[in-house]
Amino acid sequence: MASRTGQVNRPAVIVHGGAGGWEDAAAQEATAGCVRAVAAAAELLQAGGTALDAAEAACCVLEDEPLYDAGIGSYLNAAGEVELDAILVDGGAAGSLPDFGAVAGLRHLQNPIRLARKILEQRSERFFIGNGADALAAQLGLPQIENEALITAARRKLHAAQREAEKNEVQQGPAPGGTVGVAVRDPSGRLAAATSTGGSLHKPPGRVGDSPLFGAGAYARAGLGAASATGDGESIMRALLTQDAVERLATASQDAQGTCAAAIHQLLHSIPDAGVGLILVDGAGRFGAAHSSDAMPHAWWNGGEIHSRFHCSKRP
Ligand code: ASP
Repeated sequence: MASRTGQVNRPAVIVHGGAGGWEDAAAQEATAGCVRAVAAAAELLQAGGTALDAAEAACCVLEDEPLYDAGIGSYLNAAGEVELDAILVDGGAAGSLPDFGAVAGLRHLQNPIRLARKILEQRSERFFIGNGADALAAQLGLPQIENEALITAARRKLHAAQREAEKNEVQQGPAPGGTVGVAVRDPSGRLAAATSTGGSLHKPPGRVGDSPLFGAGAYARAGLGAASATGDGESIMRALLTQDAVERLATASQDAQGTCAAAIHQLLHSIPDAGVGLILVDGAGRFGAAHSSDAMPHAWWNGGEIHSRFHCSKRP
């Protein structure tokens, strides 16, 4: 059914499992995980859940899957520990500013996106980091876990290989992706975006990338769109990639897909080697997805079947 603005009042969900150098078998597994995350969001939306409910639920599914660099299974930093970053963005009501909750450097929480939601809805502050963020999670009733419990055997092996390569000054290929992200439009037209990550492989302790930064790792604005980014965080934060993509929709002659490709193209103009990826849903529930990395598993749904793939146009 079309609204007065001509927008179709149907739900739309798109999720990604990270831009990077995925091998085909892993990319296929990660794509299947994206389908499971979309299914969880779809179920909630069909039961009357909001865009924020759906974005949080899909993100939790991906944080719980050890194959992504988010929640359990995140990459280790150079000190052999996991530090987690996440953001949840609410596009807001028509005419209002978007809002968000964000966290960085968490060490004892399996689902950082849950804390981002609580910050968005229960706090006047917007961004918590490190020990303070972990303490807030405990105070707000989120279960704490040992940092060890976030680490899988596969990630330990990758960490050891990375250390060895650095010791021998051997250049490693691009790491597989694994940051996760979600963009949702609910049937009322409300928009939300979520991004969650363990950050870059072997990052120095304390390093925070684009993922939890409003307008960089995720952005949403009423009526326009919602987006999540992944890949080379230092490039994405300089370009404010998700904000750039969503704000382009206000004037764009392009559709959602063309807008994603144009935003990445603009970033590559300044930083030609950046491996990045972007998903987007516009105010009418249309999708865009583009990446300059080798692959980006992603899946999407707007009321019918769930679709998925791990490559789209490699270079927009
Ligand atoms: N953007 C993330 C970061 O820089 C990493 C990724 O998406 O692969 O922390």
